[in-house]
Amino acid sequence: MSTEISLTRTHAPKARPDDASLSFGKVFTDHMFLMDYEEGRGWHDPRVVPYGSFTMDPATSVLHYGQAVFDGLKAFRGPDGKIRLFRAERHARRLNKSCAALCIPEMDADLVRRSFEAIVGVDHEWVPSAPGTSLYIRPTVIATEVMLGVHPAHRYTYFVICSPVGSYYKEGVKPVRILATDKYVRAVAGGLGEAKTAANYAASLAAQRDAERQGYTQVLWLDAIERKAIDEVGTMNIMMQIGDEVITPPLAGTILDGVTRNSILQLLRDWGVKVSERRITIDEVMEAGRNGTLREMWGTGTAAVVSPVGELGYKGEKIVISNGQTGALTQKLYDAIVGIQYGRTNDAHGWTTEV
Ligand code: PMP
Repeated sequence: MSTEISLTRTHAPKARPDDASLSFGKVFTDHMFLMDYEEGRGWHDPRVVPYGSFTMDPATSVLHYGQAVFDGLKAFRGPDGKIRLFRAERHARRLNKSCAALCIPEMDADLVRRSFEAIVGVDHEWVPSAPGTSLYIRPTVIATEVMLGVHPAHRYTYFVICSPVGSYYKEGVKPVRILATDKYVRAVAGGLGEAKTAANYAASLAAQRDAERQGYTQVLWLDAIERKAIDEVGTMNIMMQIGDEVITPPLAGTILDGVTRNSILQLLRDWGVKVSERRITIDEVMEAGRNGTLREMWGTGTAAVVSPVGELGYKGEKIVISNGQTGALTQKLYDAIVGIQYGRTNDAHGWTTEV
């Protein structure tokens, strides 16, 4: 099977938005990457084509049973004009892990990585250059078999679309208020929590809506069984510094293996900071907040890099963290990751690839 990626260019390029007007995920580039799967034939026809709509039979299985996985990564244009992808290979491998969890046939991880480079290469003019801006890349696999039986589909489509996005922090890194909930749960071990699949995001909507109604930005998810152990925050992994120890929940099947999480743990270890991937309960965190040992708390993810937590609410009690400001370690981590992404600082771990 040829893994040559073919290219059909658009005859109708769109007007590109000003960097200053960019938000998140509303504007898409001129092209998309496609590849198809049929049982017996495997994955075939990798290609870059003009961006466009899909026509779907109403009985297409993904529309009914949610056999869909995706990932999300970014390309950055540095002050040197070069475009860099951040940890493309790790994102490609994670997409395949999500496929495996949803009974979707895995792809050649190297071809997935090349699909990112191909689409960014063709649409390179869409990578914005204003500080903090980037090109968000959304690889997705959906079941395209037309059938209403509940079983793994025999046909799939892999697509990659790209969206130029504005700076997450237009006025500098800004702390958020988060609410720990024991009313809703996101995932349970043995379920889909560690896969990046549509169902997990559908499961998060009601809790997020309730948190917003109470004046919070994000939900701090607790484990589904005891509703005590901390899992994730919104669509980010969570970390906190208590005393001189940085603690983050372990990869035990209920949370996503975040690429930013992995990168930050590596940097902390490089810097000699004590790091523990261990179970930590909301009671421990609230107590650390009360007795003054909870120094900093932050979420980690591709969108924000780090999102400092300035306030934590739980069962009617509120804890203010780092005086509601961005902590020194949180800021240092943000600066270090962003420096690597934009090619301003040495990429000691080889996390970026130039396109
Ligand atoms: N958890 C969830 C549920 C997410 O959606 C994300 C965003 N991809 C993360 C954690 C953070 O992962 P990453 O650092 O790879 O973006």
